[in-house]
Amino acid sequence: MTSNQSLFERARQHIPGGVNSPVRAFGSVGGTPVFLAKGQGAYVWDSEGRRYVDYVGSWGPLILGHAHPAVIEAVQQAAVNGLSFGAPTEAEIELADLLCARLPSMQMVRLVSSGTEATMSALRLARGYTGRDKIVKFEGCYHGHADSLLVKAGSGLLTFGNPSSAGVPAAVANDTIVLPYNDVEALKACFDAHGHEIAALIVEPIAGNMNLVQPSPAFVAAMRGVCDQSGALLIYDEVMTGFRVGAGCAQGLHGITPDLTTLGKVVGGGMPLAAFGGRREVMEKLAPLGPVYQAGTLSGNPVAVAAGLATMKLIGEAGFFDRLAAKATQLCAGLTEAAKAAGETFSAQSVGGMFGVYFSAHCPDSYADVMASDRARFNRFFHAMLEEGVYLAPSAFEAGFVSSAHTDDDLESTLSAAGRAFARLKA
Ligand code: PMP
Repeated sequence: MTSNQSLFERARQHIPGGVNSPVRAFGSVGGTPVFLAKGQGAYVWDSEGRRYVDYVGSWGPLILGHAHPAVIEAVQQAAVNGLSFGAPTEAEIELADLLCARLPSMQMVRLVSSGTEATMSALRLARGYTGRDKIVKFEGCYHGHADSLLVKAGSGLLTFGNPSSAGVPAAVANDTIVLPYNDVEALKACFDAHGHEIAALIVEPIAGNMNLVQPSPAFVAAMRGVCDQSGALLIYDEVMTGFRVGAGCAQGLHGITPDLTTLGKVVGGGMPLAAFGGRREVMEKLAPLGPVYQAGTLSGNPVAVAAGLATMKLIGEAGFFDRLAAKATQLCAGLTEAAKAAGETFSAQSVGGMFGVYFSAHCPDSYADVMASDRARFNRFFHAMLEEGVYLAPSAFEAGFVSSAHTDDDLESTLSAAGRAFARLKA
């Protein structure tokens, strides 16, 4: 058995910061990241053999828990037939058909390998389709690490206090307009002034990269409204919310038909797979049909497609999302109760299988609200929970996830751990 500390020291020799994605580094919560060796159901084990109840789920994909037997079997069967072809396969059609059947807004879809590729490609497509250059995004929303989206972004950029990345050319950043989330007036004023230049408005329809922030119904309606008026495309970035907040994604909950949707995480069942799709007329602008280029050696990878298909089939079963949402609701209610008993200023909420916990009196509805929460207290809570064997996202700016593998016993043990952790914050 190897200690997390010695692995972290070794990792830092040849991997910047010792991690292959920044938020894994425990940068804001401090301490040594746990190096994970194994996952099964609701649990992960670190390199020291310690078991944790996991509420990260690989940052969202593992809606069925770790190493679900049906997903593993699908991956094994696909793998023996070859890892990659770079040629079309029948399974890709099956996944495309399934995604289009589940999402009425999706008439055509293209598979890619990461959420970043999905949003980057959707933006290029929107620009190619409209012949316009500007895009609108919201402060605190993260849409992957393509240049034009790394302006006032969430997730690791917030965690490390550098919301706009270095290395993004000013000319690119200048075409990105950043607005406050949930601010209808600012949205309308922006489109009044620049509507005719805007190719797309991209949004996390339920934000999860500045912690969980829900949009107001007025904000949701205004986004569709300004896009309709201006001819800009509305892109719902559902990489996180897609098949996570409900069977019809955030757009189903909102009753909104976006022009384009990006998907990732759950649709790949834990393998590198993502997708973007939407209106046929727009999607037909993609090469080889149209002038907008987009491609990928591993796009539609057969092993990833097999994992995605197996996952999508299981989450399509009747009652799946009701059961999942009940777990997240139970967790949030229990945490709120435990915090209250300990006299903590705390709130929590969930949508489907996604949840947010905040050291603030009310659930935030803006980036400014999130920033006003007591992040130092979150960091102490995080470590207290980790010591109790509960693995939460290592940042106050990330949403958490439950899976169908979390049992009542898991939830109860998490809540009693939380009771002890809240009590320790007082000490
Ligand atoms: N969009 C959203 C809403 C996301 O949450 C993420 C990843 N957390 C991305 C895009 C980027 O996806 P990936 O990390 O697969 O590139």
